[in-house]
Amino acid sequence: MRKPIIAGNWKMFKTRDEALQFVLAVNEKMPSIDKVDSVVCAPAILLRDLVKRQGDNLRIGAQNMHFKESGAYTGEISPIMLTSTGVTYVIIGHSERRAMFNETDESCNLKLHSAFEHGLKPILCVGESLEQREGGKTEELLSFQLENDLKGLTADQVKELVIAYEPIWAIGTGRTATSDVADDTCGFIREKVAQLYSKEVAEAIRIQYGGSVKVSNIDELMSKPNIDGALIGGASLIAEDFIKLVNAALK
Ligand code: 13P
Repeated sequence: MRKPIIAGNWKMFKTRDEALQFVLAVNEKMPSIDKVDSVVCAPAILLRDLVKRQGDNLRIGAQNMHFKESGAYTGEISPIMLTSTGVTYVIIGHSERRAMFNETDESCNLKLHSAFEHGLKPILCVGESLEQREGGKTEELLSFQLENDLKGLTADQVKELVIAYEPIWAIGTGRTATSDVADDTCGFIREKVAQLYSKEVAEAIRIQYGGSVKVSNIDELMSKPNIDGALIGGASLIAEDFIKLVNAALK
């Protein structure tokens, strides 16, 4: 039985005061970490403050990192900087970073290796554009991303990995994939992991759906067998909604 994981991706939203208020509002309302992993992935500058205030059942994650421990990379954040804040998770390869900040499958792969080496739990984002979906290229694209992003990872590492299936056309658009499309595609990702590793690894890996997830559609998405959680943008910014979203994973 896979433990559900509900993660908020705040993207470039929230000042320090807003972030601290959020954590104070949600901490006591998070379900037991034995039943659900509840995660907030916040802007890097807020991570240490949030980790200091995270309750027993909330974990904090970063939204990106460099794969090297240090170096002349102005503006970048390294894995040892992240671990020094006490964060647990790190998002790798979000489509916004792939589209706007030159993130490639090769850099995602380096970052995944580095995250595991440093004891961080990566959430790898994959997903197709509308053009790829309409052109019948979704499976080809996902296969390509998985083959290249996971290259060289061990079976034990992949069992610990979280994959977020985020169709680009559903992000921030209000256009959620239907629960059947989301489930089928997460199922395809699981089959691909079985092919690359084994059935045992595929049964262990947790796969989230992301893209316009909100309080009104999470129950249906979470009822699907291949969907183990959600990566949520807009709706994760509102404390009351985040509380409902993580509690939906208990049903
Ligand atoms: P929205 O939930 O705002 O569509 O964002 C999804 C996302 O990109 C999460 O990483």
